[in-house]
Formats: sequence, structure tokens, C-alpha cells
Amino acid sequence: MISDFGFRISDCSLYCRLTGELPKNVRETSLTLHQPLPRSPNGHLQSAIRNPKSEIGKSAIRNPKSKVATLPPTPYLRAMPKRTTGRASVPQPTSVVTGGAGFLGSHMVDWLLARGHRVIAIDNFVTGTVANIDHLGGNPNFKFIQQDVTEFLFLHEEVDYVWHFASPASPVDYLELPIQTLKVGSLGTHKALGLAKSKGARFLLTSTSEVYGDPLVHPQTEDYWGNVNTIGPRGCYDESKRFAEALTMAYLRQHQVETRIVRIFNTYGPRMRLNDGRVVPAFISQALQNKPITVFGDGTQTRSFCYCSDLIDGIYRLMMSSHSEPVNLGNPHEMTMLEFARQILKATGSRSKIVFLPLPQDDPRQRRPEVTRARTWLKWEPRVALPQGLKSTIAYFRQKISR
Ligand code: UDP
Repeated sequence: MISDFGFRISDCSLYCRLTGELPKNVRETSLTLHQPLPRSPNGHLQSAIRNPKSEIGKSAIRNPKSKVATLPPTPYLRAMPKRTTGRASVPQPTSVVTGGAGFLGSHMVDWLLARGHRVIAIDNFVTGTVANIDHLGGNPNFKFIQQDVTEFLFLHEEVDYVWHFASPASPVDYLELPIQTLKVGSLGTHKALGLAKSKGARFLLTSTSEVYGDPLVHPQTEDYWGNVNTIGPRGCYDESKRFAEALTMAYLRQHQVETRIVRIFNTYGPRMRLNDGRVVPAFISQALQNKPITVFGDGTQTRSFCYCSDLIDGIYRLMMSSHSEPVNLGNPHEMTMLEFARQILKATGSRSKIVFLPLPQDDPRQRRPEVTRARTWLKWEPRVALPQGLKSTIAYFRQKISR
């Protein structure tokens, strides 16, 4: 059976412990990893928990709730995983990437496949798109599940790593989708952590520089607690990620899930949506069409832009490290939005004029990551300079616009 995304829909290997049926909101698409759940004589999927011989049953038995009480009291920063991830004895690790059809999630998927992982991507296409993953059709190590991650996540495969990327991430998106944004950061993170806990997998949360709000400390260090307007328009994103960080630390402390938290600063590159409202696609698409470049406020607010491959490299290093405290990842090269607009005009050779529009409420005045932790803990450095990264990003948008 072919789904409307051109993938072959596999047998139902997803959930359903309770009903034995695939929920309406869940569709699994796969090219290879067919492994039908055991069925009872009446054809219904058997309860995993009731069937200890099944993979699911084994997993349930490996991680009974009682185990939490029997674990030795381990200091959270030295918490031991129930399964050691990344071992030589795991010839092919399995990674789950939530938000795997999004801008950064899909780059993570490619990165992991290139390093020999089997990858299960989950996305509901609210802000992700099938175009970001359609090149993976036919890859035997890739499986896609169309699902909202705020719903119960159930997989019968062993999982070694859970990379939690799912969330609207552009101010325009989360202003349009405030409730979904809050739900994915809270309920979605809960489900993703629950999946990691049940599988004994290592978990990574993609948090954000927005946890610092409109920062009063510059540049932002990881030990700065932030300056967030909880009831402002950006509060839905900022607070959902702050909650997600707190929940992640609670799973580390209470359940000894091995967790990682990355705070992502402004990142750009191919696969950003033309109309996602963020400054990089906005300025480039305006410039390529010789339309006015819309600088908000007087353009003196600052950001620093990291190319996507640098960021994904840092995230991978963090997951494979032993560090559970948050780590900033971003390019420390800071500039004003007016400078950035001029740089885009130069890089595109555009005839666009710069126009000034009102600054959105709570727009952070200054943002630059302090990346000492990433440098010393992960031996990470951003390598792609802005002109180089803009070249490939502009080429990508040029192609999108010409279609
Ligand atoms: N910005 C702008 N013009 C635009 C879009 C954004 O001047 O068309 C500014 C925005 O006000 C902010 C900066 O660019 O100061 C970065 O905005 P973005 O939406 O990319 O993400 P943010 O860093 O605010 O989360």
C-alpha cells in the first residue's frame, strides 16, 4: 500500500497495547523494517506486556517500574544508563528522531544514517515537510512514522538514542501555534522521555537560547537563568522549552535516564522553509525577489548565526559525551540585523531596498552564545563562516523560488 507521501505503509508495528488497533492519528510508513506485532487468534495485536516473549514484552520486563526503587542512589551527573549506548557490541545503533522531517531534525537524520545508525523519524508535518526526507526513500536503515509526538509513542524495536527535535521553532510559527508549541514542549517531551526510559536509551533535548528570554547577561552562559516574559507572545515557546529542560532533569534524577540538553542559538541552512518568518529565509527570499528587506525595529538588535552542519556536529558530540548539564551551541560571531541585511544584499547581488518595520514584542535585544562548555567538553568549534554558509543557503532558496 502506498501512502500519499510515496512510502510503502508497512504492517502495523506501532502500538496499540490497549485496543490492538492503530489509532486514527497514527500512520507508520516504512520501506524495510517490517516486523509485524504478534497477533492473537482473533487477529488483534497481542498486548506486549502480556506477551513477555515478544520484543515489547522483553523491553517491558527489562524496565519494570519497580526497578527505579531498586537502583542505587546515584548522583545525577554520574547516572548510569540501563543499557550502555554506543557500545562496540551494538553493531548498528538505533536512533529515534522526533521532528525528523523538520529543518534540523532531517539534517540530524542524514548525519546519523551517514554514521551507520538505523533511524526512525517521527513527525506530524505541522512545520516539517516530506521534501526534507524524500531522498531517503529506499534506504533500508530509515523508517518514518507520521505521528504527533504528544501522543503515546510506542515502538517494538530496541532503541539506543532518542533525539527530541519536534517543535515549531520560528517566532511566526509559534505565534500561530501557541497551544501546539506548549503541548509539544511539555507532553511531547514527556512522551519522548518515556520512550527513552522504557528502552533504556540515551535522550537528548533540543532546547533553545530562548530559555534566556531577553537576556540581561551578555554573552549568555549556561548558568544564566534567563529573563522570560511568561505571558508575552514568545512565552509559549520559551516556557515550553524551560519546562522541557526541567522535565529532562527530573527524568535524569528520578529515573536515571541518561539525558543531554543542547541550547540551540540561531541556526540557518538549506531546508529552512521560505516562509517560516525567521530572519534568514525572510531576508534571502526578499533579496532574491528584489522585494524590500524588512528590518524590524532600528535593526540594532543582534544575533549570531550558526550553519546547520556545525550545529548537528555539536549535537552529535554532546549526545556521545558524558555531560548532562545544558550546553550552548551556536556561532559566537555576533552582528546587528541591519548588518545582516546588508550582508544578504551583497551575497545575493540584490537590488532590494531596506525598510524598517515595528519591532515585535519581547524581541531579544542581544544574543550571542558563550561556548566555552562546547569547546572544552565537546572539542567543538563552528567551522563554516557566514559567507560560506550563506552561499549554499542562498543556492537552496534560489532553487525553491524558481520552482
Ligand atoms: N527580523 C527582522 N526582519 C524579519 C524577520 C526577523 O528584522 O523579516 C529580526 C527579528 O526581529 C529578530 C531577528 O531578526 O530581532 C531574528 O529573528 P528570527 O525570527 O530569525 O528569530 P529569533 O532570533 O528572534 O528567535
